[in-house]
Amino acid sequence: MMPNPSMDPHPSTVKATFSLPVAGVRLEASVQLPAGRTTLTQLLPIIQNLENAILGRVAEEAAAAGSPISCRAGCGACCRQMVPVSLFEAEALTEWMRSLPEERQKELAERFHRALSALRDAGVIDKILKDEWTLEEERTTQLAIDYFHAHVACPFLENESCTIHPIRPLACREYLVVSPPELCEDPSVHDVMGVQLPLKLSRVLHSFGQELERDPRGWIPLVFLLAWGKSSAQPGEQIAGTGEEVLRKLLERINQIAGVAKD
Ligand code: SF4
Repeated sequence: MMPNPSMDPHPSTVKATFSLPVAGVRLEASVQLPAGRTTLTQLLPIIQNLENAILGRVAEEAAAAGSPISCRAGCGACCRQMVPVSLFEAEALTEWMRSLPEERQKELAERFHRALSALRDAGVIDKILKDEWTLEEERTTQLAIDYFHAHVACPFLENESCTIHPIRPLACREYLVVSPPELCEDPSVHDVMGVQLPLKLSRVLHSFGQELERDPRGWIPLVFLLAWGKSSAQPGEQIAGTGEEVLRKLLERINQIAGVAKD
């Protein structure tokens, strides 16, 4: 990572450049970081932009190979799955929800309650809370199928569109398919062809979360967001420093997890 010196003796932001090898080429990145104390949660907009750039490159590769991404706005078929949300994204989304007008907060709270009740009635919540499913891949897959078969839409899905698209979780961004969209109506039956990503930043954030929570997951199901937010947890505070320090920790973790080298 290369910090850029500035003429301003007390800048509020500093520029940093680095590169990541993605899908066989180097992705050059240049970001403005807070000069003062910041947290991993506060760096999320930068992480989301980085993820978008990685996925953009992946989409270009897929199109060039003759298998363009088939995901389109208005198709919310995949929004009935269990979405893993990192603790840092949970913190940011909780903060965002608290900033909404009271009426909208109430509406969202009702949507979350309805989704939780439907999943409870389908027996899925009990299975999630038992945690045993994290131990074996077969059980994890079965839980994912049970969740999907409960047909419970994400509380943020309205008219088959994501109402939080610009700030949606990394896991949602990473779910890209090249098969016909109609197959996504039941991935447990149809052969949905997902794109293999060279790097998933969601996994990087989950690994930070695993250290903080001593939880094998390091994330929460999105549908638990409202309940999780009531704890007022601030996981980002535990990975804090100057903008450059937090970015360095992030790049080191990417390097560890995905073998991605930084400059
Ligand atoms: S956050 Fe948005 S993209 Fe993700 S599951 Fe919910 S509605 Fe779909």
